[in-house]
Amino acid sequence: MKLLLGGEWRESESEDKRDFFDPASGSVIGRVPFSTKEEANLAVESAGRAFESWKALPITDRAKFLFKLKDVLEANAEELAMLNTRNHGKTLEESRGDVRRTVENVDVAISIAHTLARGTLLDQISPGIDEEMVKEPLGVFAIICPFNFPVMIPFWFLPYAIVLGDTVVVKPSEITPLPMQRVASLIQDQVKLPAGVFNLVHGGSEVVESLIANESTKGVTFVGSSPVARKVYRLAGEHGKRAIANGGAKNSIVVMPDAEIDLAVPSMISSFFGNSGQRCLAGANLLLVGEAKERVLGKFADAASRLKIGPGVKPDTQMGPVVSAAAKERILKYVQYGLDEGAYILKDGRTAKVAEFPGGFYLGATVFEGVAPDMKIAKDEIFGPVASILDVEDLDSAINMINRGTDFGNMASIFTSSGRAAREFRRGIRAGNIGINIGVAAPSANFPFGGMKGSFFGVLHAQIDTVDFFTDRKTTITRW
Ligand code: NAD
Repeated sequence: MKLLLGGEWRESESEDKRDFFDPASGSVIGRVPFSTKEEANLAVESAGRAFESWKALPITDRAKFLFKLKDVLEANAEELAMLNTRNHGKTLEESRGDVRRTVENVDVAISIAHTLARGTLLDQISPGIDEEMVKEPLGVFAIICPFNFPVMIPFWFLPYAIVLGDTVVVKPSEITPLPMQRVASLIQDQVKLPAGVFNLVHGGSEVVESLIANESTKGVTFVGSSPVARKVYRLAGEHGKRAIANGGAKNSIVVMPDAEIDLAVPSMISSFFGNSGQRCLAGANLLLVGEAKERVLGKFADAASRLKIGPGVKPDTQMGPVVSAAAKERILKYVQYGLDEGAYILKDGRTAKVAEFPGGFYLGATVFEGVAPDMKIAKDEIFGPVASILDVEDLDSAINMINRGTDFGNMASIFTSSGRAAREFRRGIRAGNIGINIGVAAPSANFPFGGMKGSFFGVLHAQIDTVDFFTDRKTTITRW
């Protein structure tokens, strides 16, 4: 796996190379270098060198590269989805969804280039005086990515930065570097962005720290776990850089007694167990209000039991493996915590096996009942196919539990037939993404993507919001 620096592929000189896997079989499919500090700095320098001429290109010409990027991504969508599934494990259908949202972000970046990137002018603010504001690109941005959406998440930032005239260094997750490596080669060979506008490095914390510390880096975008998001935000502050840092999640779904259960259950199954629970918008705690419990519990556990586990490439697979042996171990540890703390297992996913692939990182869906708000399985991010069911008396207690029960505030959903309950929920919850009769409240690229509380550090969010992150404002006052 090579680095792309200044339009040239290079072998990393690092001695530190680590295996990455096909989670469906558990076999090694490649080795990723942990780039050196020098290589991180070279990437920033390459992006820095490309900046002035890229910035000088008219925005409509920069947008033409994005039209090309969109075409290339669409023409190679199936291959990218396959690579995504191969390295991450999720089902092919889920990977196709990731690629669709990737392309949607390119679409929105093209549209903002012609709309939101404009400045303003106020004519005759005083006699003979006009005042104008323009938005200008800043320079080099580092884009640091998590393992769970290997292509889509870099695209929450990348197309906006480049269309606005900035240049980038992308660092994919060391666990799932394969899909973005292919995107980089498509950018290099087919999109033919000028050398240095897009750079790719691999590795872990050392590279991230070097990218942020480099004097020429103007800002960093990060998506990953909360402790690292907090660290990246702090480091960016220390070095005087802009930062968007999206952290982890522990999302709750509330079911009211008046909910349409047949609509709610499939939507909740997809939320809790889609992507094998490895989604920052996944349901994790299921709060059943009053009589909702009787109506939902059996159907939910039953649907969870029927999920077909298998390799993501098989068309009948409904839940793929988790991403790594370490992730599987961590999730199993949490299931044990749940048992130790006195929760009761309604559906046990620990022993799930896929006969053809004994080495795959498979887990079935696990459903806990009788979970108390102070248990670890109710408070901590597990990031796997585990649902914790909590009983609540009424909507107020549910809102209270969500706001106070965890340090996270990424997503919360309610299933109800009452507009009043839905409104109260939307207004009362401290989370960045709210679902009303929706299991995964994922904002389209036309809306900002961010969280609250410990799920987010920063001001501006991902996707469309980045237009103000990737530009600075300059005001000119003119007298003639
Ligand atoms: P992670 O925090 O382990 O890693 C994310 C990135 O940070 C990787 O590129 C990694 O190499 C780098 N990194 C790891 N440790 C570092 C350190 N000490 N210093 C600097 N960089 C470091 O996250 P992950 O396991 O890849 O992804 C899963 C997490 O991402 C979950 O917590 C999930 O909730 C979160 N996530 C959040 C969102 C969101 O929008 N809020 C979206 C997707 C995923």
